[in-house]
Amino acid sequence: SKNALDAFTKSNITRLQQHKLFSTGSQSGRLPGKVALITGAASGIGKAAAIRFIENGAKVLLADVQDDLGKSIANDLGPNASFIHCDVTNEQEISSSVEHAVAQYGQLDVMYNNAGIIGTLAPTILDLELEGFDRTMAINVHSMVAGIKHASRVMIPHQAGSIICMASATAILGGMAPHDYTVSKAAVVGLVKSTAAELNQHGIRVNCISPHIIPTPLGVNGFKKLSGINDEKIATKMAHNLWEFKGAQCEASDVAEAAVFLASDYAKYISGHNLVVDAGFTCFKRLNFTP
Ligand code: NAD
Repeated sequence: SKNALDAFTKSNITRLQQHKLFSTGSQSGRLPGKVALITGAASGIGKAAAIRFIENGAKVLLADVQDDLGKSIANDLGPNASFIHCDVTNEQEISSSVEHAVAQYGQLDVMYNNAGIIGTLAPTILDLELEGFDRTMAINVHSMVAGIKHASRVMIPHQAGSIICMASATAILGGMAPHDYTVSKAAVVGLVKSTAAELNQHGIRVNCISPHIIPTPLGVNGFKKLSGINDEKIATKMAHNLWEFKGAQCEASDVAEAAVFLASDYAKYISGHNLVVDAGFTCFKRLNFTP
């Protein structure tokens, strides 16, 4: 999966170079001139989103705790990308990252609260240590409350903005992940509805995205631990096989495309929404007529 993601990154960077979208202030694409802050952008979905956002004409501040990786990705993405160290459990660091985006690019149009962890991976409620539960909530929920608070602080004066949070299909259907992760993602859906209700009056849209399992480092490590399969290739294949959709598998780029849409003016009347990217997994169950 890491190789697939690296290949995705490489091919997209090559495409960006070919299309000369690295030039400052590109007016092409679906996010022309928009300024975005993406947390957890050094890996997986956040990295894929940073690539797609820039490809669509945005300027992106990548935020993460993996400094070397984040800096090198920002460097590869060219002059419309930069990196800032930000531990999302620290409200002050979120606030400074927002300030940094405004100081560097003059505004903040999009806040993508993407960073998250799989959590304790406790197999049962009896195994769940409450300290671990609190840590999962700190990284997956507390962080997003702070992200919405500080992004809206700078967006309200402009009466415009798009805030996107990462939820998950596990927020909809129980039993897909350990309790702390499932609860944290359900909380994100509630947070989005609650803040969208308030921020509507300021022209700020708040939405979330709920993907099915994707073999990013978080997805593969979680799947390996839960399934007991240690081989990365087999775990990735099994993760994809959990839900089959003819001709497609859930990839980080699918979520990145959903984020580009929600960030863009094409989604100007969409707020409080949970955009589920799961090829119907949480929608229906096919009946089995085998006798
Ligand atoms: P990933 O592990 O590839 O990337 C997560 C990034 O977040 C990493 O770069 C990591 O360094 C960063 N991060 C972790 N803790 C942080 C902190 N305290 N401060 C700042 N950054 C921090 O995982 P991913 O799959 O790309 O996950 C991104 C988001 O998507 C998460 O919120 C995750 O819950 C959600 N999600 C993932 C899946 C999946 O199957 N991969 C499915 C549904 C939702």
